[in-house]
Amino acid sequence: MNRDKNILLLSEVSVWDLIVIGGGATGLGAALDAASRGMKVLLIEKYDFSKGTSSKSTKLIHGGVRYLKNAEFKLVRKALQERYILKKNAPHLVQNKDFIIPIYSWIHFIFYGIGLKLYDAISGKWSFGGTKFLNKKATIEHLNSINTKGLKGGVKYKDGQFDDARFAISLAHTIEIEGGAVLNYMEYLSPKIENKSITGIIALDKIDQKEFHLSSKYIINATGVFSNKLMMSIASKFKIKASRGTHIVVDRSFLDSQNAIMIPKTIDGRVLFVIPWNDKTLIGTTDEESNEIDIDLSTPLKDIDFILENVKHYLFKYPQKKDIKSVFTGLRPLVSNNDNSSTKELSRAHIIHKSGEGIIHVLGGKWTTYRLMGSEAIDYLLRDKILQFGKSTTSSIPLFGFKDDVDFQDPLHVYGTELKRLKTFGSMVSLSNHILISEAMILYAIQVEMAINLEDVLARRIRCLFIDANETIKIAPKVAQIMAKALKKDDTWTAKQLDLFLPLASKYIV
Ligand SMILES: Cc1cc2nc3c(=O)[nH]c(=O)nc-3n(C[C@H](O)[C@H](O)[C@H](O)COP(=O)(O)OP(=O)(O)OC[C@H]3O[C@@H](n4cnc5c(N)ncnc54)[C@H](O)[C@@H]3O)c2cc1C
Repeated sequence: MNRDKNILLLSEVSVWDLIVIGGGATGLGAALDAASRGMKVLLIEKYDFSKGTSSKSTKLIHGGVRYLKNAEFKLVRKALQERYILKKNAPHLVQNKDFIIPIYSWIHFIFYGIGLKLYDAISGKWSFGGTKFLNKKATIEHLNSINTKGLKGGVKYKDGQFDDARFAISLAHTIEIEGGAVLNYMEYLSPKIENKSITGIIALDKIDQKEFHLSSKYIINATGVFSNKLMMSIASKFKIKASRGTHIVVDRSFLDSQNAIMIPKTIDGRVLFVIPWNDKTLIGTTDEESNEIDIDLSTPLKDIDFILENVKHYLFKYPQKKDIKSVFTGLRPLVSNNDNSSTKELSRAHIIHKSGEGIIHVLGGKWTTYRLMGSEAIDYLLRDKILQFGKSTTSSIPLFGFKDDVDFQDPLHVYGTELKRLKTFGSMVSLSNHILISEAMILYAIQVEMAINLEDVLARRIRCLFIDANETIKIAPKVAQIMAKALKKDDTWTAKQLDLFLPLASKYIV
């Protein structure tokens, strides 16, 4: 991916078939679907790909066991089918993981057992493997760190795990392979209006501060929690409500297992996951309505307290604030047509809607269903021209880096077939004893993966900031220097990068 080359395209292409605004899961999914049908597609992202919600998820590709409680069978079925497709098309990024619900009351064996057998039944031919009942001994063998006091056993089920930001980058690459173009740091400012109708958009290149007037036959709004700003006349019918979700990352020893724990009922009646991730343990999440919509939301202390309090009962050695290596908070975009419903009650289903001005809005949904949302959005906008561009083929398009025999214990598995090439970019020796980040990974990020700023490298191309924020702050100057040398930038650039990155990084520290 080459940003300079794509900027030149803005002057070369007189009319795009489609411009997608927003480079999270939703926008990337729609752009890939359109590009693979032969449309001339441009995707623009105000910051960096997946910087919004799409890098701050629980990192599950799942049907959503908990939606069964609300009888959302259709949503679960669709998501389970997507889970199968995503694993098939990106086996280097989606892994099959064992989740165990620890059982402390005999009645819960029946309750959760029935629920998960139903989950199996719905998954049908897309199954990742069946649910199993574990006795106490087997549960302890599966979860070294489980609190054994009062433990009766466990129910084990299968679901998918992935790295959200790495998946997003693989999608961006795949869009380009299919003939589309992607640009980060390109902000949608306003519609381009000619003869009283919208004929495109006005966008700002945030690197060179240059404005572009771009023409397009179709426009898709995929700006997640920021969608209300682009909703124009439909604002009264649907609204996006934001639900705040926080995760903490602690040392691996708190879980000490390859398997994940699913805590089925927190104090507020939700589920909480304790998952092995990148040689650490990821714990989350919360669900609180948020009126504050910010790309870099700070985490309220009460979210952290909630997670620590709820996880405490399940772990033999439980984490405290001082053990937190990183904390991050994202906002779920949830579709509401009734302002009184709480975000916990709102469905995770998506909506595709055309506003009076002709903009197509793709709202809500989940990471797991991004592909389906994309194909439905393009079907919707092409409904009269489907013969010209054909049907969606994304269910059988392998994603960039496709490799189906990766070792998920190797943190570099996320590069798939690209790992071989990456190793030619420089030294593979890690700059840190605590996180894996090498010169080769940094250079690959800026030369191949369109990483522009220090943050892009340290937060999303390589997940350092999400894994260990203090350690990331320590290595940041060295990483900035490596970037500056490769990009032929001076000391002022390096200092500015650090000035931008360090205040952001401090938000990941408790
Ligand atoms: C805590 C949490 C946990 C979750 N866990 C899971 C999970 O485990 N599995 C799952 O399937 N789903 C999960 N989800 C849901 C999933 O993460 C979201 O549904 C998905 O990431 C939303 O993607 P999006 O593209 O709609 O939004 P975003 O990722 O927020 O993307 C929107 C993008 O639009 C850009 N933008 C905004 N304004 C402009 C503009 N003017 N010009 C250009 N670009 C603009 C933003 O910068 C942003 O990058 C979780 C969500 C949260 C919050």
